Amino acid sequence: MDKQQEFVLRTLEERDIRFVRLWFTDVLGYLKSVAVAPAELEQAFDEGIGFDGSAIEGFARVYESDMIAKPDPGTFQILPWRAEAPGTARMFCDILMPDGSPSYADPRYVLKRILARTSDLGFTFYTHPEIEFFLLKDKPVDGTRPVPADSSGYFDHTPQNVGMDFRRQAITMLESMGISVEFSHHEGAPGQQEIDLRYADALSTADNVMTFRLVMKQVALEQGVQATFMPKPFSEYPGSGMHTHLSLFEGDRNAFYESGAEYQLSKVGRSFIAGLLRHAAEISAVTNQWVNSYKRIWGGSARSAGAGGEAPSYICWGHNNRSALIRVPMYKPGKTGSARVEVRSIDSGANPYLTYAVLLAAGLKGIEEGYELPAGADDDVWALSDAERRAMGIEPLPQNLGEAIELMERSELVAETLGEHVFDFFLRNKKQEWEEYRSEVTAFELRKMLPVL
Ligand code: GLN
Ligand code: MG
Ligand code: MG
Ligand code: MG
Repeated sequence: MDKQQEFVLRTLEERDIRFVRLWFTDVLGYLKSVAVAPAELEQAFDEGIGFDGSAIEGFARVYESDMIAKPDPGTFQILPWRAEAPGTARMFCDILMPDGSPSYADPRYVLKRILARTSDLGFTFYTHPEIEFFLLKDKPVDGTRPVPADSSGYFDHTPQNVGMDFRRQAITMLESMGISVEFSHHEGAPGQQEIDLRYADALSTADNVMTFRLVMKQVALEQGVQATFMPKPFSEYPGSGMHTHLSLFEGDRNAFYESGAEYQLSKVGRSFIAGLLRHAAEISAVTNQWVNSYKRIWGGSARSAGAGGEAPSYICWGHNNRSALIRVPMYKPGKTGSARVEVRSIDSGANPYLTYAVLLAAGLKGIEEGYELPAGADDDVWALSDAERRAMGIEPLPQNLGEAIELMERSELVAETLGEHVFDFFLRNKKQEWEEYRSEVTAFELRKMLPVL
């Protein structure tokens, strides 16, 4: 048994922990959990715990359903909302096939696979998400409009604001689980919050995003409200993005940084951005995976900066341009050696493992093929006409999930990165979502058509 495993077993005893939850994530990004008694853990570390993979979205077909969850002791944490003895802890798991090989259906493995390739190229991949979400008054009721839990706006600081207490408690809980928070504030819409995590290697960040969502829902319940990561719950307010800052390191040197270069961006940094841009449309079904995701990108308020709309609709990059898909944050004098890119398309309903995998794949492709970075867009690209954008070579992101799926289906990059199983399952599942949506008569049609036709 290794040191980390020993540490876990010792902590279980010392802290009187009677339940250990083994966590993993399905292909769509839902957290799954199976609780084991501490006595089972030694065996779980050795061989893993068997479960029926066919019951998990995207994992296995019924005739090959045996799968194994093997806990990663490095992810051991006590759950702070179950802290009083007897306590509960959790570990993320790797999913294995009965023969012990990694499961091709495990999103964590999809990410690990490309991280291994990245490390062969000499790089480490870091990410830092800014996570937006809504607090709502009541439990969502089928199909009815939700009510935001407060009526504040961007950076508002008002004493009777549920968000303030909420953020304090939520951040305390995250920190006690080893997840560092950098910033937090009220976002542009009523009830909307943002919490930004400190940068970490992409696998830890993806695990942290999964933990984050659960912690937010838990704290919300304790405060009598509901948290939602749905990308766009309100037509008239901005949606919830998960802007993510990316960087590659070579040892302890930031590989995107070059002193004196334009925007302090190295050749590696420029080609990485070029890769993100060139493949943005085909990876969109992963970074923005729901019918509703495209309401955030194209819907009301997306076009009005200010009110906190500012979801990107067009494929371009800019230095400090908040209408751009990719932003290279302003270089801070005195902060030498650091450079990063912010991808603004991703929404809060994304599967973080698959999302980081396809973004990384796009960026690496740019580096490996030596893509040239096109000119940046300094204008507000929403304000330009279609013809002006076309003349500048600025293409739109997919208009809806249907279009995104079509582009993904033709993408070698996505097929290769996700692997055949996840790629096929994902497409099948998303086509079904799109077809269901497309055939539904909506409230919009009833409101607009019924009175006049
Ligand atoms: N809510 C916006 C989005 O959907 C972002 C607002 C902001 O952080 N400037 O991306
Ligand atoms: Mg922010
Ligand atoms: Mg924000
Ligand atoms: Mg941002």
